[in-house]
Amino acid sequence: VSREMKRENSIIVLPQGVKIGGGHFVVMAGPCAVESELQAFTIARAVKAAGAQVFRGGAFKPRTSPYSYQGLEEEGLKILARVRDEIGLPVITEAIDHYSLDLVEQYADIIQIGARNMQNFSLLRRAGQARKPVLLKRGMSATLDEFFMAAEYILAEGNTQVILCERGIRGIGAHARNTLDLAAIPYVKKESHLPIIADPSHAAGRRLLVPPLARGAVAVGADGLIIEVHHDPTHALSDGPQSLYPEQFAALMRDIQTLRPGQ
Ligand code: PEP
Ligand code: MN
Repeated sequence: VSREMKRENSIIVLPQGVKIGGGHFVVMAGPCAVESELQAFTIARAVKAAGAQVFRGGAFKPRTSPYSYQGLEEEGLKILARVRDEIGLPVITEAIDHYSLDLVEQYADIIQIGARNMQNFSLLRRAGQARKPVLLKRGMSATLDEFFMAAEYILAEGNTQVILCERGIRGIGAHARNTLDLAAIPYVKKESHLPIIADPSHAAGRRLLVPPLARGAVAVGADGLIIEVHHDPTHALSDGPQSLYPEQFAALMRDIQTLRPGQ
């Protein structure tokens, strides 16, 4: 993970030629959870038209309450694979345990390990044995050294295709769900050769705060963003309040062009 081991930036290469890191900036977007084929295709078409290069959507959801929507599981993964094949966007989705990782590895282009599992060492080892890139989210109370060591578990098993993600840490107050730690981004880029992207959606918890946090993350040098978008957020089965409407997402993509001229 450390720059002492490797001086140049690691670049993760996805199918369809999408690159992340080393100056290659990527936006991943889509719903928190895959809810139906129609929902996934509607949102995928919208985010692709706005310029997203990767489609996100959870099929296995790590919900705080066991009574909340838990995802479509393998049926959701099949929908994601159809999105990739028909719309042409690589897909990222979360694995929450060994069982789901076996499935996610078969269907997805990037395996997401969520904040709640950042120190699930047996899952990290299993992700390290996968032959697909892994997006590792920072735990909500993890220091950066703990974050680096979690990534080290994946690399130590032989998988060097790791993307880090700052998604906000526990803060005080209720104005935002979490506190986006913008300082983490330049710090990680100094200490590590791995790409780091930001997730303003889970940091914000409400859509009003997502575009400004996204712009902030771009301004401090993030290698990309992962953003929740839903065409009907009031009826979303998870994280509706923080999901951008497709038009808001398109406007944010235009703002990002301004912040990264010529890119
Ligand atoms: C998600 O991406 O939908 C998610 C659950 O994120 P986190 O692990 O950051 O809470
Ligand atoms: Mn979510």
